Amino acid sequence: MKQQVVPNIQRYEEDEMAAAKANHPKLAEVLQEPSLIGVPSALRILGIADRVSYIVDPSLSLTCHNKAWDKFALENAAPKLAGLACIGTNILSITDESLRPFYKDAFQKVQREKKVWEWRYTCSSPQVFRRCLMRVHPISLSGWLLVTNSLIIESEHAAGTSDSALYVDVDKQIQVCVHCRCSKRVAQPERWDFVPANLKPEMAVRQALCPICKLYFYPSCREKTVLREQPRQRDNR
Ligand SMILES: [Zn+2]
Repeated sequence: MKQQVVPNIQRYEEDEMAAAKANHPKLAEVLQEPSLIGVPSALRILGIADRVSYIVDPSLSLTCHNKAWDKFALENAAPKLAGLACIGTNILSITDESLRPFYKDAFQKVQREKKVWEWRYTCSSPQVFRRCLMRVHPISLSGWLLVTNSLIIESEHAAGTSDSALYVDVDKQIQVCVHCRCSKRVAQPERWDFVPANLKPEMAVRQALCPICKLYFYPSCREKTVLREQPRQRDNR
């Protein structure tokens, strides 16, 4: 098919750029801006086919994304996020609630300090273990951000338990950590195991943060939770 041999960047320009620009008058300008890391324009980075990349405006609303975003959405049971339908959506509203404070802090830090921010996270499927690198780049135009996600490790899952029944709670759901993708054992709630079968799209999963990830990787989420509880304690006195 002819489209497959056309570079991703060109395909993006031809297929969706006009619509994206119509939605966001400033987008045409932003796409030509260099990100602040001495690399070519944001448009060129969006064209890198194997990185899920997108641009948000100063209010953190999604203004455009690349084809790798669409592919990832379709392969991970999120078809509503593919194509132009999600343009204008605040990126935090499609971030899992448990991680929202963490990513909000990170995006605002890049907007404020204008330095690239990096984060490594697990993005495993039932078939393979995957580790990815997220980079948030400030764009020259104040408050705009270019976000890229690159695959850095992909390997087979280590052998382990595969009995999903041990993890299904009274609500017929499995609690899965949104960072390490481990599942909480119902009979031993302090124990979280990596169970690839629990990541299948048909499983009823409730997202959470396991105690270790909350402690070591997302302290801002932990602090926010504690802060919200304080006024309630005072009211009870
Ligand atoms: Zn975890």
